[in-house]
Amino acid sequence: MKSLTDLTFDNRFARLGDAFSTQVLPEPIAEPRVVVVSPAAMALLDLDPSEAESEVFAQLFAGHTLWSDAEPRAMVYSGHQFGGYNPRLGDGRGLLLGEVVNQAGEYWDLHLKGAGQTPYSRMGDGRAVLRSSIREFLASEHLHALGIPSSRALCVTASSTPVWREKQESAAMVLRLAQSHVRFGHFEYFYYTQQHDLLKQLGEHVLSCHFPSCKEQPQPYLAMFREVVERNAELIAYWQAYGFCHGVMNSDNMSILGITFDYGPYAFLDDFDSKHICNHSDDTGRYSFSNQVPIAQWNLAALGQALTPLVEVDALRATLSLFLPLYQSHYLDLMRRRLGWLSSDAGDDALIQRLLQLMQDSAVDYSNFFRELGDSAPEQSLARLREDFTDLQGFDAWASDYRARSRQDGDDQQQRRTRMHAANPKYILRNYLAQQVIEAAEQGDYAPVRELHAVLSRPFDEQPGFERYAQRPPEWGKHLAISCSS
Ligand code: AMP
Ligand code: MG
Repeated sequence: MKSLTDLTFDNRFARLGDAFSTQVLPEPIAEPRVVVVSPAAMALLDLDPSEAESEVFAQLFAGHTLWSDAEPRAMVYSGHQFGGYNPRLGDGRGLLLGEVVNQAGEYWDLHLKGAGQTPYSRMGDGRAVLRSSIREFLASEHLHALGIPSSRALCVTASSTPVWREKQESAAMVLRLAQSHVRFGHFEYFYYTQQHDLLKQLGEHVLSCHFPSCKEQPQPYLAMFREVVERNAELIAYWQAYGFCHGVMNSDNMSILGITFDYGPYAFLDDFDSKHICNHSDDTGRYSFSNQVPIAQWNLAALGQALTPLVEVDALRATLSLFLPLYQSHYLDLMRRRLGWLSSDAGDDALIQRLLQLMQDSAVDYSNFFRELGDSAPEQSLARLREDFTDLQGFDAWASDYRARSRQDGDDQQQRRTRMHAANPKYILRNYLAQQVIEAAEQGDYAPVRELHAVLSRPFDEQPGFERYAQRPPEWGKHLAISCSS
């Protein structure tokens, strides 16, 4: 175990120099108090959870003090936002504090979001509000616990520093951890500014630090692109299988590592709705739930375009064409697990699509359906779930085919239940749950957000006494419009 003040830094990105990032010191927030901490994220830095009790903890994560080996930098990037190219984005309110090397030799970027203005703040105040910081924290740790690749979050720090959004709110900071903060937009920036030497330098950095095996390939940058395509195909399959809507899939919010990144107005589906739009500002539904698949491919094409000075365009195109089949194969695997099937059958895709259509037509709760399906033997579970559907004829036909399909894998119900419960979370970060704990935290009560975080970090466990967190949203919590403002 390490003590908080004794972390080992090795700031590889900072060493790339001023063309890639600018040195900026965090601007502290007033009267810092620790809202919530993730012990699992602390473990990534070899920190004992008790370190969070120390005075210096709140000071460090509210920008009042720094490790002597930290080198806070704001990164430059650009990207496509809602389909249009924005030539200059960058860390407008977050700083890469440095890279910590843990005892296992893993590198973790420490990124302090809400740390004040930088050269990339444009018109913004460089701040993050408490509500968005809590949302990012909860989602990061919950997605990780679900097995969905994600950036991580160590803690949220609240303050008395006022911030103006639609109304007056207070500034907060979230400490994000990721093995890299390089986004598709980093490559786009150097491509569109025609700085191809720097583009290559960025590529070499990413290869050395994150994809060392690609370096051995005959075409390292092509191998790197393939890796990014593969990882994102898997990531999007997880999102679609678990009903996660990101909300702002701009290319500057897409990670080179294929992790869920830059949480904004995200949502997990309550009722299944393939057309669900979680971002209040997304008028055309560009980032609707079902569009996430083609949009991911679109973003990968934008990354491929940025790599054209390094790789032949036909090779990039051929690699990009792997995305859809890879996605489809991961998605089917995940859905088979969710439905309790061990084998694969040519008819599985059609059976899954029929189920989704039935759920859509009857506004069935997406997460609870799968959990309940595994609770008892198919006959009993289906008889209970039938009550949630309006097209009973359609449901009965599907249920009969499901039973027949499930018999192919013929194992006993105890095994099936264990297997299905390990794939189907009982607890999901529903927007209404986040909303409730945010309202309490805004009143200075942090117990609810801490409890919700603890429950959501074991989403597959039964957790007796906490069943209320598994409930469908009440009427007020069904269609919460989450704005982009954060
Ligand atoms: P996001 O929508 O959070 O992904 O942010 C898009 C861009 O706007 C990024 O370059 C952010 O750093 C920047 N940004 C967002 N909010 C602020 C803010 N309050 N102050 C300065 N820059 C911001
Ligand atoms: Mg962003």
